[in-house]
Amino acid sequence: MSADYDVIVIGAGPGGYVAAIKAAQLGLKTACVEKWVDEQSKVVLGGTCLNTGCIPSKALLDSSHKYMETVKHFDAHGIKVGKVELDVPAMIERKAKVVKQLTGGIGGLFKANGVTSIIGKGKLLKGNKVEVTATDGSKQTLSATNVILAAGSVPVEIPPTPLQDDVIVDSTGALEFQSVPKRLGVIGAGVIGLELGSVWSRLGSEVVVLEAVDAFLPTVDQQIAREAKKILTKQGLDIRLGAKVTGSKVSKGKAPKVTVQYTDSEGNKEEVFDKLIVCVGRKPYTAALLADDCGVSKDERGFIKVDDHCATGVPGVYAVGDLVRGPMLAHKASEEGVMVAENIAGHKASMNYGLIPAVIYTHPEIASVGKTEEQLKAEGVEYKTGVFPFAASGRALAADDADGMVKIIADAKTDRVVGCHIIGPSAADLLQTVALGMEFSTSAEDIGMTVFSHPALCEAVHEAALAVNGHAIHIANRKKR
Ligand code: FAD
Ligand code: AMP
Repeated sequence: MSADYDVIVIGAGPGGYVAAIKAAQLGLKTACVEKWVDEQSKVVLGGTCLNTGCIPSKALLDSSHKYMETVKHFDAHGIKVGKVELDVPAMIERKAKVVKQLTGGIGGLFKANGVTSIIGKGKLLKGNKVEVTATDGSKQTLSATNVILAAGSVPVEIPPTPLQDDVIVDSTGALEFQSVPKRLGVIGAGVIGLELGSVWSRLGSEVVVLEAVDAFLPTVDQQIAREAKKILTKQGLDIRLGAKVTGSKVSKGKAPKVTVQYTDSEGNKEEVFDKLIVCVGRKPYTAALLADDCGVSKDERGFIKVDDHCATGVPGVYAVGDLVRGPMLAHKASEEGVMVAENIAGHKASMNYGLIPAVIYTHPEIASVGKTEEQLKAEGVEYKTGVFPFAASGRALAADDADGMVKIIADAKTDRVVGCHIIGPSAADLLQTVALGMEFSTSAEDIGMTVFSHPALCEAVHEAALAVNGHAIHIANRKKR
């Protein structure tokens, strides 16, 4: 008997919905099971990314950046504004509208591509069957030739700071504050902590970031990380490294406050905040996803075990995105979804895990792809670097947005670009030009020989590439040709 579907995808985040659309485009009969519903019991597509992650956080980062520009920077451009007022509920409402527009768009794409959307909680059973439990508790079992698990991740909670109403919140709660907390604590100086800390700091909160580890952004190229710490501190974030949170207490009353205990090199300390955001990482979400005898296994950290092609070891069962090893990033999830769909359709697709860009959307943005200097040193690879500060970019100065730098790292012998790290305006977009080149094995000389528009921020990429070999024009070269 033939299966109900060629492909059933469990989860409609960027890993799952992209896999489903791609599979359908390739002519496979495809269904996508999603458990997230709204107040009207209508399915909510898009997962963490669209609903509580990438998109709403960027909406608030953009709104708060506009506010900060108006309050702090317009004057320098000769623009006088009267009293600037903040309407936080309107800001949160705008963010919700952006989310709704995008999640609704996925429903449209499902229809256009012929993906069947099924509401309910999916569970993988033995023999590539999927049990779907609907919101009313009723169950149906569907069979599929292939199943793609794309159930994503959830925030990690830590015992010292259990979530409490809207006083101790996770990243999702921090996207919903209806007023600006006077004093805000953030636990964790990772990507999410810095982005959400920046949002509320720009809107006027006094923000203290408590980070257990001594190093700042330890996986980022350390020259860039040092610059980031300097700039974010200047913007008002009080970043305390080596500060491990050990306990918390929420006071009673109408306006409760939270006292947070932490230890650092000097001993035990306390801080009192109006709100506390816990941003200590995310973990794969596998609750009730796998029947005991389905054959799929997890590693010691709870990630579903897969190979380089996201195959689980059970024939026809794949897992993608935050459920599996690798960076928890939406574009990594969606590229895995595409790769899996293509391989199911009989293509020979693979993915370059060495070239996944990563961005922190503070202002300035912090963007990286490829190897850091620290990684190359540890691997014993000889390299050369070229750095160009935005302070020497005509366009950045014209915009009054000249903090940061572009850094390009190339192999010392071959000149092939092996890493690019940018802190600066539009770093995410600038980085992508270099990532594209790296995908085609560009050398620093190749980028140097390319004609760049003037005046544009991307000239900083051009000059950093020229600087790798001592040929920069608009800064003094460290090395002479
Ligand atoms: P998810 O997006 O988590 O989607 C999983 C889906 O599966 C969910 O809809 C869930 O309801 C559903 N599901 C789970 N279990 C079941 C089940 N049993 N049955 C049916 N459905 C199920 N990444 C970036 O690349 N850039 C960013 O700027 C960025 N910003 C972020 C900001 C924040 C605040 C957060 C929290 C995350 C951010 N991320 C960002 C990370 C990004 O959101 C995730 O990496 C991405 O969403 C992972 O995609 P996914 O498809 O694996 O899982
Ligand atoms: P990320 O994994 O990038 O989201 O970052 C989470 C950060 O939270 C990491 O840098 C952790 O070191 C930090 N962290 C985890 N637990 C604690 C804790 N108890 N106190 C302070 N920081 C913590």
